[in-house]
Amino acid sequence: MSNKDLADLIFPNITKTVEDYEKMYPSRNGQVVTRIAPSPTGYMHIGGIYQAIIDNLIAKSNKGVFILRIEDTDQKREVKEAVDLIKEALYRYDLIPDEYELDGETVGNYGPYVQSERKEIYHAFIKHLIEIGRAYPCFCKKDALDELRVMQEHKKLRTGYYGKYAKCRNLTVDEMIQKIKSGEEYVIRFKSMGDFEHKFKFHDEVKGDLELSQNDEDFVIMKSDNLLPTYHFAHLVDDHLMRTTHVIRGEEWLSSVPKHVELFETFNFELPKYIHTPLIIKKEGNSIRKISKRKDPEATMSYYSENGYPKEAVIESLMTIINSNYEEWHTQNPDKSYLEFNYDPSKMSSSGALYDLEKLNSLSKDIISKKKAIDVCNESYEWAKKYSSSLKEMIEQDKEYYTNILNIEREQEKPRKDIVNYSMIENLIWYMYDDKFNSRDKEYEWKNITDKDEIKLILDTYFDKYYDINDDKDTWFNKVKLMCDELGYASNIKDYKKEPEKYKGNVADVSTVIRVSITTKSNTPDLYEIMKLLGVSRIKDRISKIK
Ligand code: GLU
Repeated sequence: MSNKDLADLIFPNITKTVEDYEKMYPSRNGQVVTRIAPSPTGYMHIGGIYQAIIDNLIAKSNKGVFILRIEDTDQKREVKEAVDLIKEALYRYDLIPDEYELDGETVGNYGPYVQSERKEIYHAFIKHLIEIGRAYPCFCKKDALDELRVMQEHKKLRTGYYGKYAKCRNLTVDEMIQKIKSGEEYVIRFKSMGDFEHKFKFHDEVKGDLELSQNDEDFVIMKSDNLLPTYHFAHLVDDHLMRTTHVIRGEEWLSSVPKHVELFETFNFELPKYIHTPLIIKKEGNSIRKISKRKDPEATMSYYSENGYPKEAVIESLMTIINSNYEEWHTQNPDKSYLEFNYDPSKMSSSGALYDLEKLNSLSKDIISKKKAIDVCNESYEWAKKYSSSLKEMIEQDKEYYTNILNIEREQEKPRKDIVNYSMIENLIWYMYDDKFNSRDKEYEWKNITDKDEIKLILDTYFDKYYDINDDKDTWFNKVKLMCDELGYASNIKDYKKEPEKYKGNVADVSTVIRVSITTKSNTPDLYEIMKLLGVSRIKDRISKIK
């Protein structure tokens, strides 16, 4: 019996050959091709978006193609919803693939773009390897493999299925055929020709030139349960046939490079460029560790949507850890899109990309402060529709009023920076809404003036004699000052500082009384604007209720 008989026995229905697929998916004539290849795990890790940004940057800046490939060879989970999540995250950040398969629609000529639909293709490639004697069925049971590992660990040997430990590679074809026919379970392993003692040169676009040991492991390329390939083999087939030119993936894959290099060489396929991205790490106290889905909510993209961070802020925060020179470039080119930035993999940190929520918050504050009020209104409304019925109701009561509130100290040279994300808006502006104002347990943040009679005197005097909603801002402030003179407060802070004993307090103390009486807060955006928006009768109503 020959290898061909073995291959036919394992894959009786596979008639297409590797050459057939080469013709079906021809070379793209040098076009740059990147791909994001997430596994549908039910959440989108921040590392996925970080890599997709790089994929998209490289593809777009080279007029290339950005592919979304779903790697669902581990079919233990519900895939449909998980794919929706991936799609949502990519589209939310405008990382729109050029080729993909979503909601039953396939775009692109190099699909299918979902691995579980590519079984026949993988089988043709595996069949070829069996025919040329470079793959074989392995019948070792889990127990035997566990035993092997324990023995190797015990003897301080390198663990794995290689060399003399690769028992099944020595079975004759007849023995293999007989075992298969008798119904024994098997996986398919690659038959390595490598020598671990031999080094080869490998260039990674981030890490530079490396010397790695050749692979000598007969690693599994097809699993027994669902007959789907392992990651290593799927990477070979998919990235070759999709004509991927740049593989951007986490550096946890770097140790698998020798396996991949041997596979590509066995088929005589050109190796793509590899960009192994550093792990995203974070500071915890004095130590630094990998960002983790289990410990860090910010490791999952839903954190940013739930908290209402604008997408530009998230992208910016990731760009700052993608390339060390990005921030400088951005400061010099404040009006350019990050898509115009010249990404350079050699400028990635090779020791880890330090992600910092404080940094995100400060970028986000800055970005939101520069937005037009109407844009903050619309974006926060979109957010509220999904995540906050309370803010949604506030906005729906009167969109124009809400926009006017957002417009206080905005659309000016130095706008107010107090909104970090949309989830905090309600907490910043609730006092502008009577229903909220009246129903909350309020604590008035009185400062220097706390005496109730004095507060009443200031408010009565002010609203009886001085306040006029039609005043412009200067007149408004002058009148507060005039009242200060009348009531024995310094209308000028300098005068007060010189001779504090001459006065009951100063103009700031008096404004605070007005501010707190209307909003309960000692620190708010511009009081003049707030009063204008509230209007006299609502202000008076509030004041009448102070006890
Ligand atoms: N499915 C793999 C992962 O999620 C993809 C790695 C790659 O991009 O090749 O890690």
